[in-house]
Amino acid sequence: MAARPTPYLDQLNDAQREAVETMDGPVLMLAGAGTGKTKALTCRIAHLLNTGRARPNEILAVTFTNKAAREMKERVGDLMGTSVAGMPWLGTFHSVCVKQLRRHGDLVGLKSNFTILDTDDVIRLLKQLIKAEGIDEKRWPARQLAGVIDAWKNRALTPAKVTDDEAFNGYGVKLYAQYQNRLKALNACDFGDLLLHMVTIFQNHPDLLEQYQRWYKYILVDEYQDTNVAQYMWLRLLGAAHKNVCCVGDDDQSIYGWRGAEVGNILRFEKDFPGAKVVRLEQNYRSTPHILAAASGVIAGNSNRLGKDLWTAEPEGELVRLIGHHDYEDEARWIGEEIEAMAGGARARLRKFSLEDMAILVRASHQMRAFEDRFLKIGLAYRVIGGPKFYERLECRDAIAYFRVVMQPEDDLAFERIINTPKRGVGPKALLDIQTMARTNGVSLKEGARLAVQEGLLKGKAKGAVAELVAQLDAWGNLAEQQIRYPGLDDDEAVVESVDCVPAEITHVELAERILDESGYTTMWQNDKTPEAPGRLENLKELVKGLDEHDNLHGFLENVSLSLDNDANEADPKVTIMTLHGAKGLEFPVVFLPGWEEGLFPSQRSMDESGLSGLEEERRLAYVGITRAEELCTISFASNRPVFGQWQTQMPSRFVDEIPSDHIDVLTPQAVGGRYGGQRGGFDDGFSSFESRMADADVYNSPGWRRLQDRANRAPAAKPVTLNMAAVSSFTIGDRVFHIKFGYGEVMSVDGDKLTIEFDHAGSKKLVASFVKPAAQ
Ligand code: ATP
Ligand code: MG
Repeated sequence: MAARPTPYLDQLNDAQREAVETMDGPVLMLAGAGTGKTKALTCRIAHLLNTGRARPNEILAVTFTNKAAREMKERVGDLMGTSVAGMPWLGTFHSVCVKQLRRHGDLVGLKSNFTILDTDDVIRLLKQLIKAEGIDEKRWPARQLAGVIDAWKNRALTPAKVTDDEAFNGYGVKLYAQYQNRLKALNACDFGDLLLHMVTIFQNHPDLLEQYQRWYKYILVDEYQDTNVAQYMWLRLLGAAHKNVCCVGDDDQSIYGWRGAEVGNILRFEKDFPGAKVVRLEQNYRSTPHILAAASGVIAGNSNRLGKDLWTAEPEGELVRLIGHHDYEDEARWIGEEIEAMAGGARARLRKFSLEDMAILVRASHQMRAFEDRFLKIGLAYRVIGGPKFYERLECRDAIAYFRVVMQPEDDLAFERIINTPKRGVGPKALLDIQTMARTNGVSLKEGARLAVQEGLLKGKAKGAVAELVAQLDAWGNLAEQQIRYPGLDDDEAVVESVDCVPAEITHVELAERILDESGYTTMWQNDKTPEAPGRLENLKELVKGLDEHDNLHGFLENVSLSLDNDANEADPKVTIMTLHGAKGLEFPVVFLPGWEEGLFPSQRSMDESGLSGLEEERRLAYVGITRAEELCTISFASNRPVFGQWQTQMPSRFVDEIPSDHIDVLTPQAVGGRYGGQRGGFDDGFSSFESRMADADVYNSPGWRRLQDRANRAPAAKPVTLNMAAVSSFTIGDRVFHIKFGYGEVMSVDGDKLTIEFDHAGSKKLVASFVKPAAQ
């Protein structure tokens, strides 16, 4: 084949070129973030094709996400100037293994049309097995067993190879073997099996392995630092003959240890592939010097690393910005304003950015809600990547279904969702009876359920359970009604009189809590001992907290529908919200990193762990976060954040302290107003009180904050008060407050327990203090 032009080589530096042009034998490209590893890998594919070394179907290329795989394929086409017809073996480990297993599943007892079970199916299956074994599922939950089995699969251990007899109360191995048999009988497998089966097949069938080794002439792996043992074994088997294996990675970005990734695979590479050419890249093309120095400063805190130098020829750019907020809602509001200002080109010294250029990267997915809610409110288009939007999560959908049935008893879909969640013993037969009853009488499912109970149609456990649920729904419905009819007369004095005699029995926030408690839904997750359960409980708390921003449940439900509809116009530019884990390999001109607080980032779990490995993984995640930014990186933290429903004083993350001070600019909201030159004289109402609240806060006395203040050469203000926002019950002039009927307002005068409040929409009212709350915003 005649040699084609190779213009893409001119875009590379010498080291990258070496990695691309060394086509025979093993190559390990080990380099820091943004040094062009993925770019070199992509050029290498183009070069292999262009030089006729391999046809598209002879290249096996694995990347970390489907998105990355798609992009890589597109980029190869761009580099070559023609679209690449079919690269069937370019994908994620899982997607490539599925293809292999569909062809050879018979070698492990699977037909080619096997099903891949999702987590819910897996749990259901394991539950059955645990029960059949006579084990108490409450003490030994199926989710825990699923975790144990998954960890074994990640290490390529079949039941016969597991040596840990103690796991899962001594039943682990036995149940694992039973589970694998059941899967086979069902012609099914789980995600972990995709690799495990292929490793087993290749190990037991050398002839087949040989075919594949001949077939895949070149193997390439991106994000190599995050491969687990099973993936590594699969690669080693496939590359063992020709050894044309090129792996690229960065030990400092290994962030999936918790899912079985072993950074040791990088170190093993040179042993397993002797004579490997090791290419080091040191020039970063992505970020400004300040961003790079900040990231390098943080990662230097890890002891367990190979260590490398990074430099960049980019102009100096902006300092990394650091800002502390009073609470997480202030944080969301401030970021929303910054994004709007930047998108409008209203930040002096900074160019105008598109919403597409900006990303918010969070440590924990429950942080997303505050941003989603805020952006909905101000009409800022956003997308959530790598997971459902907050309200689409399982637990949020369940809770919302409860609220919907209470507020809209005709909502049959919601009713179906909750009737047996948590499990009440209402099986498919009972549900069918209820549906028939509803249809025959032309009523809603809820009313159908009531009739089915009255007519004695339901039997056994279902009968009592449905009767109780219907009664509960009625009771919650009555409470919700009362709220809406909560009296408030226009005459000022009359309001004061009337509040004493007609108190609102319960706020809509309390009602929501009550619904989730009394229905047994919260308890269901409290009893769930799996790793996901705490996160789900946290999300439920977060959901209830979000209710506070609406006048009643109706308003909230309306907002939810809006949020689910937010993606209507996919083509419009949007801000990206995603987790730090999901952001690996990506880059954005502007990055916001909120929630840098001890206990959130680093996570509480990593801090509780003995040894340093958890913390070091968190630090690598911080490094990944900062290095996603090209031009502007803003780190923030809040001094107050509810943790498991309780407001807590938060300390700035230790990682904040690790950023070298020469590269950081400590901002206050006031400073931003001034700094960017006369956009406004400061912040709006919500923010003008920020400074005073911040000055009052204990956090000003915290060592972390003092250090920050010292850096900024600011005199620390110190006037300690308690920070428990939830407990504040007295008001002073100027406080923002919320009243269930009149909405938000500001305290104008205080007379004993009577307040005169200027409401934003309802005008001036005199009210008893116990009937208003401090405004959530
Ligand atoms: P990460 O570790 O975050 O995955 P990476 O090492 O894979 O980073 P790339 O994403 O390949 O880095 O490259 C970072 C940026 O630098 C991209 O925008 C890329 O186009 C650009 N880049 C890479 N190499 C060069 C080069 N030689 N000249 C100019 N720009 C380059
Ligand atoms: Mg990359």
